[in-house]
Amino acid sequence: MKNFNFKSATSTKEATKLSSVKTTFLAGGMTLIPAMKLRLAAYSDLINIKKIKGISGIKVSSKSIRIGATTTHAEVAASKEVGKSIPSLAVLAEGIGDPQVRNRGTIGGSIANNDPAADYPSACLALNAIIHTSKRKIAADKFFKGMFETDLKKGELIESIEFQVPEKSGYAKFPNPASRYAIVGVYIAKFKNEVRAAITGAGNYVFRSNELEKALSANFSTSAIDKVNISSKELNSDIHASAEYRAHIIKVMAKKALSFS
Ligand SMILES: Cc1cc2nc3c(=O)[nH]c(=O)nc-3n(C[C@H](O)[C@H](O)[C@H](O)COP(=O)(O)OP(=O)(O)OC[C@H]3O[C@@H](n4cnc5c(N)ncnc54)[C@H](O)[C@@H]3O)c2cc1C
Repeated sequence: MKNFNFKSATSTKEATKLSSVKTTFLAGGMTLIPAMKLRLAAYSDLINIKKIKGISGIKVSSKSIRIGATTTHAEVAASKEVGKSIPSLAVLAEGIGDPQVRNRGTIGGSIANNDPAADYPSACLALNAIIHTSKRKIAADKFFKGMFETDLKKGELIESIEFQVPEKSGYAKFPNPASRYAIVGVYIAKFKNEVRAAITGAGNYVFRSNELEKALSANFSTSAIDKVNISSKELNSDIHASAEYRAHIIKVMAKKALSFS
């Protein structure tokens, strides 16, 4: 690991002021520190954002749940409000990594990192989330741009993520047995006017499945999923699973997610 300066910000304003092309924000450090240790990334300064007030915690209203960026996965998993309003979101958080990761890792860090196998990006797409940053509001549909790539600009800090409360929702993942990252994860949410289905782990980055959404909009049941054809053409093939296997598992996880809803 190369040397770096450690700085702490106490406000969003200070964090953005300290930011430059050679710096980066540090939240839970669960991804950033290993990447720096492996010399996959190097920065002159790390700006600790965990001391910033007002970007942590959970606020619930009848229509949405707003989760502060530095809220840990363990806090989301344990939240009674989340469990009551969007139980699938608490289930998702509880299934991330292991207790150490859940106690350090944050929701903001997870979506800023946009790992192709991370869980939260699928919740953002399926629950039609709005990402509130230090500069603007970004719809989840426009936030995730590619593998480890988002719409965030340099120095732009995620402050909170606002999830819309669905009528029904479910999340199921087929986890890598070592890391618990998703080999395939499927998040399904039914709203009054639409059904949204997001897939993680299977492609270069999280995506919505037109096929599942169309079938489930017509008939919100597991039998509708049987008739869906998931193409393996754009899916990942690696030592964990072939593209064809992932295509098959998407349907299996979609049915499981629906059974939880
Ligand atoms: C062993 C292991 C197992 C894991 N298993 C899973 C799993 O099963 N599912 C899963 O989804 N994830 C998994 N993770 C990832 C983990 O959940 C973390 O969420 C993730 O590593 C990033 O969160 P963090 O708070 O640690 O961010 P950091 O590592 O501190 O930061 C990651 C990146 O996000 C940026 N960043 C952080 N916060 C913000 C912000 N508020 N605004 C803008 N940019 C920001 C940082 O600058 C950095 O580039 C695992 C990690 C490990 C080490």
